[in-house]
Amino acid sequence: MTDTNETEILSALGNSSDETEFYTPYPAGYVPGKTKFVVVVGTVMSGLGKGIFSSSLAKILKDKGLKVAPIKMEGYLNIDSGTLNPFRHGEVFVLDDGMETDMDLGTYERMLDENLTRKNFVTSGQIFTRILEQERHGRYLGRDVQMIPHVTGEVKYTLRELAMQSQADLVFIEVGGTVGDYENGYFIEAIRELAYEEGEHSVCTVALTYIMEPKSLGEQKSKAAQLGLRQLMEVGLQPHIIACRCPSPVSEKVRQKISMFSNVPLRRVFSMHDMESIYLVPEMLREAGLDREVLTLLNLHERVHQRQEDQARRKWQGFVDRLLAPREHSVNIAVTGKYTSVRDAYASIDKALEHCGAAAACHVHIQWIDSTEITRRNVAEMLKGCHGILVPGGFGSRGAEGKIECVRWARENHVPYLGICLGFQMAVVEYARNVCGLVDANTTEFASNTTAPVIDTLPEQKKIEGLGGNMRLGGKDVLLRPGSKVSHLYGNVDQVRLRFRHRYEVEPRYIPTLEKAGLIFSGHAPKQPIMQMLELADSVHPYFVATQAHPCLTSRPLSPDPLFLGLVHAALKRAYPQLTLQVAEAEPSATAI
Ligand code: GLN
Repeated sequence: MTDTNETEILSALGNSSDETEFYTPYPAGYVPGKTKFVVVVGTVMSGLGKGIFSSSLAKILKDKGLKVAPIKMEGYLNIDSGTLNPFRHGEVFVLDDGMETDMDLGTYERMLDENLTRKNFVTSGQIFTRILEQERHGRYLGRDVQMIPHVTGEVKYTLRELAMQSQADLVFIEVGGTVGDYENGYFIEAIRELAYEEGEHSVCTVALTYIMEPKSLGEQKSKAAQLGLRQLMEVGLQPHIIACRCPSPVSEKVRQKISMFSNVPLRRVFSMHDMESIYLVPEMLREAGLDREVLTLLNLHERVHQRQEDQARRKWQGFVDRLLAPREHSVNIAVTGKYTSVRDAYASIDKALEHCGAAAACHVHIQWIDSTEITRRNVAEMLKGCHGILVPGGFGSRGAEGKIECVRWARENHVPYLGICLGFQMAVVEYARNVCGLVDANTTEFASNTTAPVIDTLPEQKKIEGLGGNMRLGGKDVLLRPGSKVSHLYGNVDQVRLRFRHRYEVEPRYIPTLEKAGLIFSGHAPKQPIMQMLELADSVHPYFVATQAHPCLTSRPLSPDPLFLGLVHAALKRAYPQLTLQVAEAEPSATAI
């Protein structure tokens, strides 16, 4: 960028009058070029693992001591992911500040081992809402509000705001969807403008593409990739780096072709082939030298801390070694929900159990069982051979009776049980029905006229109308009962912070009845009588624990969630009664306060 156009752009701050065509609203105090940006766009097709790639790249740069701030830009018009059906879009991942996001944010949190906020997630719905609100407040000074420069300006503002607030060295931008989609076209245009305005060595564009390997041909074909990359260049974005997804390592010949058609030097065309585990991707990228190329392109070499990188790599390698080590022992955990046909709907549960497998040095085999098919008559058959049962979160009555049967079966047969959110509520309903004798017990979510509403709407939720962002959401403190099993599992602490997403709770007037019958409420909210953890005494059951929270959202590779780990340990004991348990080498949970 020349000095003149830099001055012109700066002088046009927030100015959208007729005097200039530049429209570059910066947050106050923003210095162009100070923060660097890495942009990851996908070509050819979706589902290439853009989130895994971006978060792995962000991780290896973070490991070097750079502060990174990722942001996922989603093209859909929903304000957040809260109203999306898990069958279509995978799980809703809730951040500590209550934002309901896409499951990719979970991948970033787990890879980077840090909590993100609503600033790390933007949808078209949010961008357009802001534009229309500003228009109603006369912010555009009589101009017709256009996709360019106003909508793209809002996107750039959002990215710069994140740069300012996070004080990151590197903002990592993942553009959702594929180049050529209508939905993300203006995001890509905003990136083009951003690169122009921030100046050389400030924005590094990485294109993820796909190399086909048709079985009938037995060789790798790059045409689709070439076309995808051309489409990217047609909209004015010249990639600096290309990462080629492919089932097997991409041949030199194919990399040369890609290089020639895209003006990207061969050393910056990388093979990103399938690996045994996603956790190997960061090291694969590092070994291929992707991090070095990004540092060179963005002039960041002198910000690298070698010692920090060595340490981070050692820790990560330890986890990967534990995860991939040959396993002598294996446990079957049944996850009984209604979205079990779509693995992504329970992505965090899947991951949390994987973290526990590494920590407990055993293979955790998950049996995904559709709770809508479970009945009192077939429950024993359906859960045969499982060493632990997990009832996950959910909404709506479909499959609920099946979940209650699972709880009963686990409780009566001393099978380790972990209930998550709805799984906690179902445990209360089951106990009320089968132990306290309240045969009609239910949640008012499913039976508004029940005579024993042991689970009812949270008081603050009673006034709320409509859907979207209005449940009890986000990170909340949980006070743990001293001496309880859950307190012990979290390392004998009296308080933890976990994430929530619910509208219903244990109806406080039933607490004495339930407790008198032996149910222990071992965690609750600090200021309200909201029950957040329950358990049965060790003398009654080897592992019967449930929580109103979603601890899977805060489970991390290096610090698995203790309630999940407790379930896996208890399942191991059930499967191998003689086994002396290995104590996990993992770090204490990130959630313990
Ligand atoms: N449907 C229940 C509620 O809203 C449970 C929610 C969940 O499992 N996330 O309280």
